[in-house]
Order: sequence, then C-alpha cells, then structure tokens
Amino acid sequence: GFYMIYLDHAATTPVPRAVADAMYEVLTEQFGNPSSQYPMGLEMKRRVEAWRQTVADALGCGGKQLFFTSCGTEADNWAVTAACWQNRHAGRHIVTTAVEHSAVLEACRWMERQGYEVTYLAPAQDGSITAEQVLSAVRPDTALVSCMLVNNELGNIYPIAEIAKGLAARNPQTLLHTDAVQGFLKVPCSAKALGADFITISAHKIGGPKGIGALYIGQRVKNPKPLLAGGEQESGLRAGTEATAQIAGFAKAVELRLEHLEDKLRHMAEIRDYAVELLSAIPDLKILSAPGGAPHVLSVSLVGWPSQNIVNDLGQQGICISAGSACHQGKPSHVIAALKLPKKVSGGVIRLSFGPETTKADIDGCAAALRQHHATRMPML
Ligand code: PLP
Repeated sequence: GFYMIYLDHAATTPVPRAVADAMYEVLTEQFGNPSSQYPMGLEMKRRVEAWRQTVADALGCGGKQLFFTSCGTEADNWAVTAACWQNRHAGRHIVTTAVEHSAVLEACRWMERQGYEVTYLAPAQDGSITAEQVLSAVRPDTALVSCMLVNNELGNIYPIAEIAKGLAARNPQTLLHTDAVQGFLKVPCSAKALGADFITISAHKIGGPKGIGALYIGQRVKNPKPLLAGGEQESGLRAGTEATAQIAGFAKAVELRLEHLEDKLRHMAEIRDYAVELLSAIPDLKILSAPGGAPHVLSVSLVGWPSQNIVNDLGQQGICISAGSACHQGKPSHVIAALKLPKKVSGGVIRLSFGPETTKADIDGCAAALRQHHATRMPML
C-alpha cells in the first residue's frame, strides 16, 4: 500500500468495511431518491430519517435539529452566516479565535468584507482560550461567538459550556457556534451540555466517508436562513437531493464508533501518553500539547528541524504524520503562528493523531524514524 504507519487521524480516518458496505448497498440496490413517492423512495426517506436520528442521538439532540451538509466546512460557513442573519438588526460584531479552522476564519473574513467587525482572540502559549477571555470580548452588538470545541492542531479543549452560560448573562442575544468536528465522539459533546446554538460535526474524522457533515441548529435560532434554496430537503433549509450513501455511511460510522467508545477513547489516550513518553526521550523534541487535551491529538516540535522535511522524510518511509495541519502545507499554520513560539520551535511542529486502530508498534516506528531524522538530517540554519 501507500503507507505502513498512519498517524494522521485528525486529518481523516479509514472507513471500516461495515461502513463501506452500508454505503455500497445504498449506491447500488437501495438507490432511490427520498423524495420519490413509490415504495423505494418512501423507504429511503424513512431510512434517511432513521440515520439522522442515529447521528442526532450521538450528539444528544433531536433529529429535527440536525441538518446534513456536504462537509464540516459547509456547516461552519452556514452557522456563521445564519447567526449573523438572525442577529442582523442586533449588531455586526463577531467574536472568534485566531486558532479556528479556516472554514470558520474565512467565513468571518467574508463577513468582515460585508461590514462586520471581527475580534480574533489570541490563545495563550499553551493554546488555551478561557471563557472569561471570550466573554469579556462580547459587546452589546455581538451577533455571534464562534469557538471550536477541540483544536485540530493542538488538541486543546475549549470551555464551550462555560461560554454558553456566561453569554446568557453577558448578552443573551448573542448566538454561540462551536466547531465540534474534532470533538464529536472524542470528548463530551452533547448539544444539551454544551449549550451552543450551532454545532458542526463531520463524518470523516470518526470513520465515516468524506463529503458529509451536519449542523445542529438549536431552538433559539428562529427561522434559520436556508443555506441552499431549492427543494424541501433538510426541512427546506439545505436543498439538494440527500446524499443517501454518505448519510448511511455517517450513521454506520457513528454506530460503530459508539460500540465500546469509552474503551476506544481510553486506548487513544494511552497511545498518546505512550507517544509522549517515547518522543520526550528524543533530543531537541518538545511536547506542545497541554495535558488534559483531546485523546487523539499530540503536537510536538523537533526544535530546529523544519517540519516539512520531517513530514517528507517520514512519508518516504510510509509513516503518515502532519506538519501542524493538512490544510497548511509548507508554512507554519495560523494556529502554530498564534502561539508566538520561537521560530525554531514553530518551524519544527508536527502533529501525530490517533484512532482506535493505532497501535504502540505504530508509535515505536514513528519514534525511531524521528530519532533517525534528528541524528542524520540538517537542522535549519
Ligand atoms: N473544522 C475542524 C476543526 C476540522 O479539523 C476540519 C477538518 O478538516 C473541518 C472543520 C472541516 O471539515 P470537512 O473536512 O468535513 O470540511
């Protein structure tokens, strides 16, 4: 194959056979359009609603509050624009963080071009963002707070529930969005407990297919702005024939991941701790992820060695890791840049990320390759 050791589960995950099989059936045999009025169509409509319920149950919300989208990016874009639309008469200010995924950041930049003012909160050097920090940036004209649940490059968990509670006192009109793409089925992520008005999730981070996500829209959002105008799909809010196979795969992936979920998360945390132990012994290697983060993400820096060279070198050996984030190949990502680390540290950042399939032998192989890289390759000037 193309790889021997896959340590990039925050970028995407392998699809288990049972998920692919569920999708295959929907692509080939049960291929009907859920809007069709004969039995195959009606049956598909029923099944899409059952799959929606499966995903909604995992998110702790009602099926009526969950809308399928073509990806997490689409759900993020929708949340930002829908929140601004609902609050268009209340104010034109957005609070977000400098370490959001580009799907949120670029949506906010688009709002800036439309006259909105955006506050980008800087994290502390360990990547943390506090609820007080977020709340003190909220003003009477703040339409939206968008803060992710788990940072995709560092694994930090942000205090969404605390932000939600604080917002109720600070400005009850402000809507709260959380990008939970890296948090869903990795850390506690029930819609009820989080208290956000919008929650983004995506299937391909939990063993589902790429190209399917969902947005939770809470009851405080009255008459949400449709994302795509057209047919009656997704309650008329996101028109377009349902991506039945992708939705089937999403639901199957959720079902599978939920089996012994606690064991899987404990396993990932053990793998992470094992990686911390092994990698810490490599000269010039610095652990960046703060303790207490999500179990599947570990950010480290081989201080002085350019991360792109590390990724290339290990890649040649069939070891898949990421330089910060898959979206920012080449230069230090905006997330790493926001930590304001010394150049030699930020230039050497790599991310290892884990799934239920990851083994200690994978970590052994990666650690050996990193040690070898350090011993034989040139550091930066
Ligand atoms: N938000 C975060 C935090 C992510 O890690 C990702 C991953 O790609 C996304 C959003 C985008 O999700 P998708 O790839 O489904 O568009």
